[in-house]
Amino acid sequence: MSATSANSVARFRLKRTLEMLAAKEGRGTELISLYVPPERKIHEVMANLREEYGTASNIKSRTTRKNVQEAIEKTSQRLKLFKEPPKNGLVIFCGAIPRDGPGTERMETYVLEPPEPINVYFYRCDARFHLEPLMEMVRERDAYGVVVIDSSDAIVAVVRGQRMDVLQEFSSGIPGKHRAGGQSARRFERMREQAMNDYFRRIGAHTYELLANEQGLKGLIIGGPGPTKHDFVEGDYLNYMLKEKILATVDTSYTGDQGVEEIVSKSQDVMRGVRYLEEKQMVQKFLYEIGHETGLGVYGETQVRKYLNTGVVDLLLLSEKMNMLHVYTKCKNCGAVEDALIPQASFVKFEQDLMSTPCKKCNAAAMYVDDTKDLVDELIDLAEKQGANVAVISTETDEGVMLKDSFGGIAAILRYKAS
Ligand SMILES: [Zn+2]
Repeated sequence: MSATSANSVARFRLKRTLEMLAAKEGRGTELISLYVPPERKIHEVMANLREEYGTASNIKSRTTRKNVQEAIEKTSQRLKLFKEPPKNGLVIFCGAIPRDGPGTERMETYVLEPPEPINVYFYRCDARFHLEPLMEMVRERDAYGVVVIDSSDAIVAVVRGQRMDVLQEFSSGIPGKHRAGGQSARRFERMREQAMNDYFRRIGAHTYELLANEQGLKGLIIGGPGPTKHDFVEGDYLNYMLKEKILATVDTSYTGDQGVEEIVSKSQDVMRGVRYLEEKQMVQKFLYEIGHETGLGVYGETQVRKYLNTGVVDLLLLSEKMNMLHVYTKCKNCGAVEDALIPQASFVKFEQDLMSTPCKKCNAAAMYVDDTKDLVDELIDLAEKQGANVAVISTETDEGVMLKDSFGGIAAILRYKAS
């Protein structure tokens, strides 16, 4: 699997899990969140948990005490399965979650291997799970460098999501266009050119220094009032790696941070375009196969699953906004199994209706929900087993919306034409 699509799947999965965990609330202060950094020794964490278990014996409420101690025990049991933390560390959430009012709590445990390293060890017992460090990992990470330059000053900034950070400001020290009396015009012009050259060089070197280590730098936008920015871009002042990343040169009315803000508001489309370009291209490729009837584009749950099972899917495209459950039902009387695809939101109603639905085989009203799977998750699992690439597509582009609305959120491109 390519790094990008593996990444989109990992992020999607973590996002879904976090949404699910965020909705959970304890009856009292009794849900445990444990973050273990990769270098932490498991036996040290176990010792810490034993201590917390001891401390919990002081909890006044009998139910809370029992629930907290049980959660600590469960957490230790899961932790014991590891000789050492995985490469990015380990996160465990554990606690008694009420199903339907007091007294209906059931112990739930979640063990997560984060996509990025955990930096800080922490143990917390609260009425909710602490998800912030993981939330941070699924946040928008793409960064754009911005340089605003004219002949008197320059600024280098980084824009990430809604956030703008000015990294450094410079002034050129170059005198205005008008020479002082007594100076020779040619000499003045030469000096000015030389000074401009030095200034561009300085800005070029600093821009590289400032942006070289910026994580996830997707592109660079250069702006400023007047023609100076073009001289800067066209000359040999920027490192070639940065030059390759230039997305646009933009006219601004201002320099300084006001100029940066102008660029940000004028370049939203440019940045969005870069972020979602890959998604657009993948869906466009699928649309091409469909439009040209090459036989390589397939869509819909039934079709896609069939080709996944035979291992001919090259790329599986799934809409991030698809919320379907695959429900497996079973008959208590004769053991017959059935399955159905339903929107997540109608699960409760489905389960209620099921009680009065007769079994297709023996006609007894004895059907129950045996298992449920998030359809997206199920298809990703299947694709990974078969070595297919997977991309989870947002609805931020027209193509992404089309995938969701016109193709049911499930499409695939095949390796070769198959029957
Ligand atoms: Zn039956």
